[in-house]
Amino acid sequence: MKVTCEVIRDLLPLYQENMISDDSKALVDDHIAGCDACKKVLDYMKTETVLMDTNVTPLLKIKTKLRRKKVITVLFSVMLSLAVAVLFVAYLTAPEYTSYRDSKISITEVDNGMVVAVFSDQVSGYDISKYQSDEYDGYVVHMTTWDSVWNRIFGRSRVNSVVLNPDGEAVTAVYYYQTDSQVDRLIYGFDINPSGGILTLPRLVLSYYFLLALGFAGFCALLVFIFRKNEIARNLLTKVLLVPISYLLAHLLIKGFDSTSYLALRDFLAILLITIPLYIAFLAAMTYIKEYKKKKA
Ligand SMILES: [Zn+2]
Repeated sequence: MKVTCEVIRDLLPLYQENMISDDSKALVDDHIAGCDACKKVLDYMKTETVLMDTNVTPLLKIKTKLRRKKVITVLFSVMLSLAVAVLFVAYLTAPEYTSYRDSKISITEVDNGMVVAVFSDQVSGYDISKYQSDEYDGYVVHMTTWDSVWNRIFGRSRVNSVVLNPDGEAVTAVYYYQTDSQVDRLIYGFDINPSGGILTLPRLVLSYYFLLALGFAGFCALLVFIFRKNEIARNLLTKVLLVPISYLLAHLLIKGFDSTSYLALRDFLAILLITIPLYIAFLAAMTYIKEYKKKKA
């Protein structure tokens, strides 16, 4: 019987694994010496020694694993960059409150009863809160303005004016609040509290969220500890634990250790926008570490 290339290729895996009789080995050696094609196949097998399970599934598995690793790495870097980008923009647009100066804001009453606040171009943003006065038939407005690095560089977020009573309601007083614990300054109308002085305080809501996240993180950490022997539960709980940890980290990045805010909603949104990519980056890192450990084991 003539030994064809096909027969030799059937034998090659066994030959490679040294699981072949001496006679067959001689046969393969003989053929290889005279057949370049089969020699190439054998050489290829030698370079891929690990994979020689005579079928290609392990090869595919390793390929998918490598691809997975790549995806995880890319995901990790993209998410981390995203968090850094959000943080950067948040810093650039962070309000820099300044005390009241006439040149920055003026309140004008227009013919049709509209009360308009007109800003100078140093103003990049404003905050307004208003409430109905019980004593007087009209609204009391508290407002402030700020500048930002972003405004100075790009000048795009500039605001020109805002109508304080869009529905034509009466405006009793407009106060300018300052964030340096000076009392609010009357800039329009008449003082509804001439004896005392009003002080607009920053909101504390972010401190509550921070404490809530801290408590939740502690609770999850405890559960992780309790279930440390159960791998599935431990993994799941660790993933849950990473949620408050991401939030706490994002909070510290945006607010530092001062949780008070005159713009709680803005700060909260910025914190969320950093929490999400941070969390995904954490998950990616966790998966990566787990796979690395598996490989080592
Ligand atoms: Zn051959």
